[in-house]
Amino acid sequence: MSDASLSSESLAYRHALDAIRAVEPAVAAAIGAELHDQRESLKLIASENYASPATLLAMGNWFSDKYAEGTVGRRFYAGCKNVDTVEALAAEHARELFGAQHAYVQPHSGIDANLVAFWAVLAQRVESPALARAQARHVNDLNEADWATLRRELGDQRMLGMSLDAGGHLTHGFRPNISGKMFEQRSYGTDPATGLVDYDALATSAREFRPLIIVAGYSAYPRLVNFRIMREIADEVGATLMVDMAHFAGLVAGKVLTGDFDPIPHAQIVTTTTHKSLRGPRGGMVLCQTELAEQVDRGCPMVLGGPLPHVMAAKAVALAEARRPEFRDYAQRIVDNANALAEGLLQRGAKLVTGGTDNHLVLLDVSSYGITGRQAESALLDANIVTNRNAVPQDGNGAWYTSGIRLGTPALTTRGLGTAEMDQIADLIHTVLAGTTPGTTGGKPSKAAYVLADGVADRVAGQTTDLLKGFPLYPTIDLG
Ligand code: PLP
Repeated sequence: MSDASLSSESLAYRHALDAIRAVEPAVAAAIGAELHDQRESLKLIASENYASPATLLAMGNWFSDKYAEGTVGRRFYAGCKNVDTVEALAAEHARELFGAQHAYVQPHSGIDANLVAFWAVLAQRVESPALARAQARHVNDLNEADWATLRRELGDQRMLGMSLDAGGHLTHGFRPNISGKMFEQRSYGTDPATGLVDYDALATSAREFRPLIIVAGYSAYPRLVNFRIMREIADEVGATLMVDMAHFAGLVAGKVLTGDFDPIPHAQIVTTTTHKSLRGPRGGMVLCQTELAEQVDRGCPMVLGGPLPHVMAAKAVALAEARRPEFRDYAQRIVDNANALAEGLLQRGAKLVTGGTDNHLVLLDVSSYGITGRQAESALLDANIVTNRNAVPQDGNGAWYTSGIRLGTPALTTRGLGTAEMDQIADLIHTVLAGTTPGTTGGKPSKAAYVLADGVADRVAGQTTDLLKGFPLYPTIDLG
C-alpha cells in the first residue's frame, strides 16, 4: 500500500515504530506484537479498555520531558506554560463531565489518587486542627513535641472499607497495601443471602468503629452502590465519605449511574482511574468538594512526584471524548452487554454472584463447574478468552486460586460487540468451563493444573477468531 492511501494514524505509528526500531528493534517488535495479540484475543478483563488513537498519541511526545511540580500557574519550575494549558484543560473537562466542584488530574494511577485523597482528608481533619491548636501556620513551625504528637495522631486513624472478597480493593485499608499500614481498618461485606451490600450492618459497624473515612467503591461488585445512604451513614458517625469509582467512572461519565448511584453529589471526595471504563490513558484523578480542594492540590509533593504532563494531555483528550454525546451511548451499551452476558451464562446454568449484574461486570462463580478460578482463567486463555480470576464472597479457595472469574464488557463494547455477540461469548465460556476438569501436579490434586477436553481449546479459539473478525480493533491503524 502506498503512503498516500494510508490513514494518518497508520502513518504516524509506522514512522514512530521505524524510529524506535532504529534504536531498539526488540521494543518496536513488542509494540507491534502487542497490537496483534490485542486484536486476536477476546478481552473480558473488567479493568481494561482500548483508548482512542488520539489519546494514545497525546501521550507519546515531548511533554514527557517536562518537570512541572506545583499546580496550574503556580509551579516550582519555569517554562510550564504548555503544561498549564493541558492540565487546566483536563481539569476543566473533568469538572464539566462529572459536575464536580474541583478536579485534580495529576495522580499517576488509581493507587496514587487514593493516597492523595487519604492524605487530603488527614490534612483537613487531623493536621489542620493540630496546627490551629498550636497556633502554627505550617508543619515546619511546630515544635518537636507538637510534631511528634501530630505524627502519632496521623497514624492513629480509622477507615471502614469494603472487604476484599465482597469486591473491595487492596488500597481500601488492607494490610499488603500502605493504606492498611496507615489506618486501623475494618471491613464491611455483603449479605451472604443476597450478595448485596448490607447497609444496616454497615451502619452498625460504623457506629461502633467511628472511622475517620468510609470508603465506598469496588473492583469486583456486580451491583450498584447507593451513595446517598453511604453519605447518611458517614454523616451520622462523623466520617468523611470517599468513593473510589475507578471501575465505574465511565458509567458515571456516561450518565448511566445517576441520582443515588452517582457518587459526585454525595461524597466529599471521589477518586478514579482514567483507563478503565472511562477509556482514557493509564492514570488517576481526584474530584472533590471545594472544602477539600486546597489539600487535594497538595498531592504533589505530599505523595506524588512531578506530574506526567504527557498523560495529563492524554487525559484532556479522553475526557473531551467522554463529554461527547456518543459516550453516553457507549456507557449504556457497556451495561446492556454485561446484562446480556449474564443472561447468556445463567441460561446455560452458570452461577453468578448476586445472580446477575447492574453495571459493567459479571462475577462468575466457577465452583459449579468443579474447578478453581485459576483453572478457569487458564483454560479460557487457551481458547483466546482473556479474563482474570477473582475471589467470590466467603471464598474457600483464597485470593490466589479463588473460585471466581471476573468478566467485564467495557473493552469489547469499545470494539463494537453487542448483545447478540455477548450471548455467543457466554456459550464459548460455558463450553470451555464445562470441558475443564482439575488436573494433578506430581500425582497430587492441584488447584492450578487442569485438563481441557480434546479439541475444545482449538475449536473455541477458532470461534473466537471468527467472532472478532467482524469487529476489527483500531481499524484505522495498519502497521504493514
Ligand atoms: N481502585 C480500584 C477500585 C481499582 O480497581 C484499582 C485497580 O485495579 C485501583 C484503585 C488502582 O489503580 P491503579 O492500578 O491505576 O493504581
